[in-house]
Amino acid sequence: MRKKYLLAPGPTPVPESALLAMAQPIIHHRTPQFSEVFRETAELLKYVFQTRQDVLILAASGTGAMEGSVTNLFSPGDEVITVNGGKFGERWTKISEAYGLKAHEIKVEWGKAVDTREVTRLLDANPKIKGVMVQASETSTTAAHPVKEIAELTKGRDCLLIVDGITAVGVFDLSMDDCGIDVLVSGSQKAFMLPPGLAFAALSERAWKFQETAKCPRFYFDFKKERKNLKDNTTAYTPAVSLITGLREALKLIKEEGLENVFKRHDRLARATRAATAALGLKALAPESPSNAATGVFVPEGVDGGKLVKYLRDEVGVTMAGGQDHLKGKILRIAHLGYVDTFDIIIAIASIEMAFNKFGHKVRYGKGVGAAQEILSEGYK
Ligand SMILES: *Cc1c(COP(=O)(O)O)cnc(C)c1O
Repeated sequence: MRKKYLLAPGPTPVPESALLAMAQPIIHHRTPQFSEVFRETAELLKYVFQTRQDVLILAASGTGAMEGSVTNLFSPGDEVITVNGGKFGERWTKISEAYGLKAHEIKVEWGKAVDTREVTRLLDANPKIKGVMVQASETSTTAAHPVKEIAELTKGRDCLLIVDGITAVGVFDLSMDDCGIDVLVSGSQKAFMLPPGLAFAALSERAWKFQETAKCPRFYFDFKKERKNLKDNTTAYTPAVSLITGLREALKLIKEEGLENVFKRHDRLARATRAATAALGLKALAPESPSNAATGVFVPEGVDGGKLVKYLRDEVGVTMAGGQDHLKGKILRIAHLGYVDTFDIIIAIASIEMAFNKFGHKVRYGKGVGAAQEILSEGYK
């Protein structure tokens, strides 16, 4: 027997109460029983999104909510800024172009945060720009973009701020209403501690106004239709009943812990992981603006990152993520979001130390673990 541990930036581990809720016999979705589950879930979602707005619940992976944000708010030919600092930023550009928008893409070096002066420059030079699309946490590089600063730039203009908060909502403070975010999207398999299959989107009043005149083709992801159904505690099409039943339990856990404490936990785990990897002499991928969702580090010279990730997963039983595109085989991403706590970090770091020694990169056992413990212990009286 070999116990398995999931420490990838999505899907993330699912707590027992959510698993048990999802194991219940399926109920019909057009019933008062399901409507009550849905109502409670939708209410709890507002708390986690830190908004007074409705949070739409879609049966899709996170990308569905990204695509819906583009098609429901813009028209072909509209000009937008897309921040491409990794795989997910690139996706904003691809979706925009697929629907005939004109994307002014800001290419950001992987691991870096976007320079807000570049956003200002583009907005000033192109007054017709109607939207800025960015990741709050670019999971592929583990960097966080300065969403609050960008919101200061879009607030005073006729321009929406659309934020992919897929590994940010429920990880760090990103109060939608207070910051002035116009669209915030997320997905179930990250900090929401659920299997993949649900996408979420919340829109500001300003965004709903854009929706009225947007002409991009759309059918399944019709936000207006979903909002109307949400008022009746249902969805336009068959909802993912079991996932929503699980979501209610996962959201209850977040509410019980309190968002403030959820953010503190993620911060502590992220700092411990950074300290541990630094103690092991690993170079951080996003040292200046790291996200609290995951920590990316370069693997040491002479170690094949692809083989390392595979060894950790198949032999040691610990699933972490490697790199994509030009970082393939070069980095390791240790996730610390969702249903994770102190000893998940110990497992991650201890397994890395063991794998390094196996791969001929000699490290003293406990060097990284000890550095992590110094910070992790802050979580206990
Ligand atoms: C996981 C993730 C997505 C969504 O990917 P799906 O596979 O469609 O769920 C989008 N953006 C970020 C930042 C992510 O981490």
